Amino acid sequence: MKISCEIIKDLLPLYHDGVCSNESKAMIEEHLAECDNCKAELDTMDEVLTVTSMGQNLSEAEEVKKLSRKWKKGMLKSLLKGALLTLLIVTSALLILFCFADIRIV
Ligand SMILES: [Zn+2]
Repeated sequence: MKISCEIIKDLLPLYHDGVCSNESKAMIEEHLAECDNCKAELDTMDEVLTVTSMGQNLSEAEEVKKLSRKWKKGMLKSLLKGALLTLLIVTSALLILFCFADIRIV
């Protein structure tokens, strides 16, 4: 039985994703062995998918970069806050110490 290219083209996405039944798979492979048109169709499907997933990876990497940049900014902010707080505590501790020293001297 000769299967029409239309049917194969309908099934190709399933075959490509490996979700079609074994019977369909055998049928498609049989057709692909004889039909260059459908083989080319499968090849372009491969290319399109590779490009899309590559683009996705790129945008994901960009997202991660943005996140880490944000995170670094947050880190810097909290580090600065910590440094300021420490400075404030040290200054007030010194002030208190000076006050006590003054009282003792007086
Ligand atoms: Zn065909």
